[in-house]
Amino acid sequence: MTRRHTLAMASLLASCQKPDAANTYMKLVLALGVHEPSYVDAYYGPPQLKQQAENENLTLDQIRDRAHSFLSSLDEPNVLRRQFLVIQTKSLVKRTEMLSGRKFTFDEESQHLYDTVAPVIPEATFEKAIQQLDSLLPSKGPIAERHALYRNSFNIPADRVDACFRAAVDESRSITQKHIALPAEESFEIEYVKGKVWSAYNWYRSRYKSLIQVNLDLPVEIGRIVTLAAHEGYPGHHVYNTLLEQHLVNGKGWREFSIYPLFSPQSCIAEGTAEYGVGLTFPAVSSLAFHEQILFPKAGLDPKQAAHYLKVLSALASLSHAVNQAARQYLDDKINRAACQQYLERYSLMTAPKAEQRIRFIEANRAYVITYNHGQDLIRTYLAKQPDQWKAFEALLSSPRLPSTLKS
Ligand SMILES: [Zn+2]
Repeated sequence: MTRRHTLAMASLLASCQKPDAANTYMKLVLALGVHEPSYVDAYYGPPQLKQQAENENLTLDQIRDRAHSFLSSLDEPNVLRRQFLVIQTKSLVKRTEMLSGRKFTFDEESQHLYDTVAPVIPEATFEKAIQQLDSLLPSKGPIAERHALYRNSFNIPADRVDACFRAAVDESRSITQKHIALPAEESFEIEYVKGKVWSAYNWYRSRYKSLIQVNLDLPVEIGRIVTLAAHEGYPGHHVYNTLLEQHLVNGKGWREFSIYPLFSPQSCIAEGTAEYGVGLTFPAVSSLAFHEQILFPKAGLDPKQAAHYLKVLSALASLSHAVNQAARQYLDDKINRAACQQYLERYSLMTAPKAEQRIRFIEANRAYVITYNHGQDLIRTYLAKQPDQWKAFEALLSSPRLPSTLKS
């Protein structure tokens, strides 16, 4: 063996002995996933790590101890990457505490799991938006009923949903591709399902492929179509996961991005960018043209109604924050389930079945609800300072930023 070989062996040994941050992090997330399968939203790292986590079956206390020792030994020179690993792992520690029975208030949970707290918005704000809506809705009578009647008239017949959704996916893809260079192999499959607490879900499969499931428990309203296509597909979840794999996992070798823990700060970026991406892809004028010319005819609805309908939807936009308020009070035991339902119907103007579905979502995912609207506000504030929205959006989707590192 030459001296060069000896040196090479020594350096190989040293690199083997140094704990691999990506591996340790992935093992922690996978270990928690053994206790809570939905925690691991996507994983495409080495299958043996998953097998190992299942075989080891660490207790929640052991996972917590290992997470603490990982945090104290972490030595990563890249600031954003180190911050990502630290913040995500601290969130994981809190999740193990929750699963061990520790109780947090809604805002504590938001801070611990998602690295941010949604502001309390007074009901007067929602009431003001609802009053403005009054003049937009036809006929007279209680606003909730008129609103429900109006919105229900824009439900798409079940046999036309797929054609509408595919048209919106094609459109959002072609708009996104004008601004973001996507890998040639990227694509996703679409499936229609029932019996879920969510209205749609993106399951990232790796190699730039996703499965998007759309829930048909409730009728699909035409205004949901572009939201679903942009949020789940382009430039939302499918693009976020694709860019993370392309730029961070493959480009930089940061393998910790091949796992995605659901109840973690990363979700605030994922949901916030997915929501923000809807308006970025379909700004008001082009959204109206697309609804009038493509979606309404495909759905068999009168295109002349599109302008007024989109005006109603935009008047309702701020009401999504009422969901945070409802969840905060319900999960903090300030109101019961029936009062939570009433709150959603009154301040979010949800129909009874929609409010019921949302409560089941709140019960299953708790403070996760803030990641959508509050997440979007964080993204909007961050991007407002950037000169080119699409460029900054793409850079954000390809970076390890989390809510508290959006500022730096
Ligand atoms: Zn989402």
